[in-house]
Amino acid sequence: MRTQLDTLVTGALQQGSAVPAFTCYDFTTALAVVGAAEESGRGAILLVAPKTAATPNGLRLIAALRGLADAASVPIAVQLDHATDPQVIADAVSAGADSVLVDGSSLPYEDNIDLVRNVRAALAGQGRGDVVIEAELGGLAGDEDRAFGTDAADNAGSTVADAPAGLTDSAQVEDFVARTGAQLLAVAVGNVHGKYKGEPRLRWDVLQDIAVRTRIPLVLHGASGIPAEELVKAAAMNVGKVNFNTELRTGVLAVLEEQTTAHRADGENLQALLGLWNASARTFAATALATLSR
Ligand SMILES: [Zn+2]
Repeated sequence: MRTQLDTLVTGALQQGSAVPAFTCYDFTTALAVVGAAEESGRGAILLVAPKTAATPNGLRLIAALRGLADAASVPIAVQLDHATDPQVIADAVSAGADSVLVDGSSLPYEDNIDLVRNVRAALAGQGRGDVVIEAELGGLAGDEDRAFGTDAADNAGSTVADAPAGLTDSAQVEDFVARTGAQLLAVAVGNVHGKYKGEPRLRWDVLQDIAVRTRIPLVLHGASGIPAEELVKAAAMNVGKVNFNTELRTGVLAVLEEQTTAHRADGENLQALLGLWNASARTFAATALATLSR
């Protein structure tokens, strides 16, 4: 069913839990996430990467996710992730996205604020003042869509960038939230996109500092690789939304690698192979839903 992302997340926080968000490059994965959410009786968030939304097919995917979300028996939000391009944002919202992460985190502080405000004004002009805006303060290392770099050395398992690009400065939080009017705030507290090099070291002290300075829900990106016993602490720090991508892809790709030959031999049984893809993503989503509501 349709939901406001901020309402969904705030409601979860009031129950001591957080809402998982999963990057969907395709409809099979989205079906799996929604299936897991319905089975758990909890809401979830379907994320669309900006590179996906920047193509006509990506906009059709958003429209399909919109239909899937509306027909679900639990609240499902469709969010455009890490967006900076005003045209991509406008198109994604027209196609059915109900929330946007307006990501000016790589910009100078004042430019980050301007970007969020300009997007808000543009959406209002589009008659879509209802779109929920997440903003990001602090730089996250790594690439959202790639687990590691493309050269051979990086394929050995290092992250795209080894060190966090810059922790969120908690002293900026109150001003940033007030001036952007953001409804959720993505933070950089030692989390990274892609695979972690070594053990993730989340800076709970920084997160605590941020949490006391704003009432809006915080968002943790790059949750893949963070142990469950760490993630369960999130909601206590006002982290109401946790984004997953890399591990979900790892699981799906492992299934495809293991099963493709047998399914090709089995009369080129793509239907059954997609069933296994769905099962892998669904198990992952179910585990994340359970972890965040523990
Ligand atoms: Zn992210």
